[in-house]
Amino acid sequence: MSQNVSLKGKVAVVTGSTSGIGKAIAAAFAEAGADVMLNGLGTADDEINKAALKDVGAHGTRVSFAPVNLMKPEGARDLISRTKEEFGSVAILVNNAGMQHVAPIAEFPDERWDQIIALNLSASFHTIKAAIPHMRAGGFGRVINICSAHSLRASPNKVAYVAAKHGLAGMTKVVALETAEEPITVNAISPGYVWTPLVEQQIPDFAKSQGITEDEAKAQILDKQPSREFARSEQIGALALFLASDAAVQITGSNYTVDGGWTAQ
Ligand code: NAD
Repeated sequence: MSQNVSLKGKVAVVTGSTSGIGKAIAAAFAEAGADVMLNGLGTADDEINKAALKDVGAHGTRVSFAPVNLMKPEGARDLISRTKEEFGSVAILVNNAGMQHVAPIAEFPDERWDQIIALNLSASFHTIKAAIPHMRAGGFGRVINICSAHSLRASPNKVAYVAAKHGLAGMTKVVALETAEEPITVNAISPGYVWTPLVEQQIPDFAKSQGITEDEAKAQILDKQPSREFARSEQIGALALFLASDAAVQITGSNYTVDGGWTAQ
């Protein structure tokens, strides 16, 4: 990550950062000198969480792990207060944790709707609300919401995900306007398909729902992405690092796509 961005002395909290995109963002921040609060499900003894602590911690900055469940508002608030208690400030917040469920609306389970709205949308409201006062106190703030091409486009069978991501894109703009005269920026990143565990998990369901093989499902998914390539988590990390930098101070209320041209269509 040779962007010459220094986040030395800055404290970042990245939700859902024990795997996939969140872990790559956390690693990019730590490499640039930030102290990082990791978050995900499970306990600090789980292999996936131990690996995240080791990999993100390899850059020599302070790295900790808060295993709070963001589906609960108190979990989201707790994540921010723990970060402040442990590291002394909260300068950068990345709302990345997310989940997906694929089904037509008539068969879409109510509890899946509630969970996806809670995690992919409401959790960001609670973390941002709790973090903004710390950013104001520290005189610096960066909020980066990981949305999706589905914050700008719809696909069938993803009613909760598309609704939540459109909502998160709207929340990004509102908070950007509310903080526009302060040293705080609020932006969204909207990836297309990125090769991560979330995508890997969707492929069997999608193949089953279409009656096709998993290889055919992968090709069909990439059909939406004109580059015909999955994006990589590190590429999202590089953009998040830039948005967290001093150079990005006049960028606020934006929604950056990293989707191989999907939403240009
Ligand atoms: P992932 O499944 O690899 O990782 C999800 C992370 O969220 C893990 O750390 C997990 O522990 C954590 N998590 C899950 N439920 C949680 C909960 N209730 N409380 C706290 N943490 C929880 O995900 P990913 O593919 O890296 O996706 C990350 C984000 O990027 C999501 O918001 C997703 O919607 C978005 N996104 C992903 C893609 C893609 O192709 N992978 C594309 C567009 C947008």
